[in-house]
Amino acid sequence: MDVLTHLFLPLTVAFAVRPEWFDSPAWLALGVFGLFSDFDKFVGAPGLLHSLVGVVPMSLALVGLGRVLDRRGWIDDATTAGRLAAGFVWSHLLLDVIDGGPVPLLAPLFRTGLGLEYPARVVFGAEPLGLAVSGPLVALRIVAPRPGFNAYGFINGFGIASVLTFAAIYLGRRSRASDNGIASSDNGNEFQDDELGCRDDGGDR
Ligand SMILES: [Zn+2]
Repeated sequence: MDVLTHLFLPLTVAFAVRPEWFDSPAWLALGVFGLFSDFDKFVGAPGLLHSLVGVVPMSLALVGLGRVLDRRGWIDDATTAGRLAAGFVWSHLLLDVIDGGPVPLLAPLFRTGLGLEYPARVVFGAEPLGLAVSGPLVALRIVAPRPGFNAYGFINGFGIASVLTFAAIYLGRRSRASDNGIASSDNGNEFQDDELGCRDDGGDR
């Protein structure tokens, strides 16, 4: 899965579920934790940070750091930010499994990793309906990641689609929020006018 999908798909899900977590737009930058596991490729040991040995301590450290920063009053809402960052770290493994992996969850104990693949093919012109689906919809793939330094795809169409989806949801929500803000301030003015009207009525009597 490409860089943009790992960045923006988890952000889109988190923002759609709990937009209030991003009241401070700075928390959007936490999306970079969705790339944490791929840093094992820098050292030529793919899989090292895709295992529980790498991900569990990292996510515990992020949650702990968030709590400490919050308790000391250094950063508001740091507890939420720590949990969000940990969630983004885990999202990487989920996306990689969905994308075929292999994700070696138990490395370095076991080098083999797992992933899902989708072998089903639509066959046109097949009897009797002229259309058939051949092969299983989902299959489990168990292989070891290729060791050493390798070349990987950087950006693909799904990444671009993830960016566009995030932009549509984020900008749409923000513009609705600002419309509501304007509407409620208009209502406030009406309310004030009504109050003045009442006072005027009272004065006439
Ligand atoms: Zn990965």
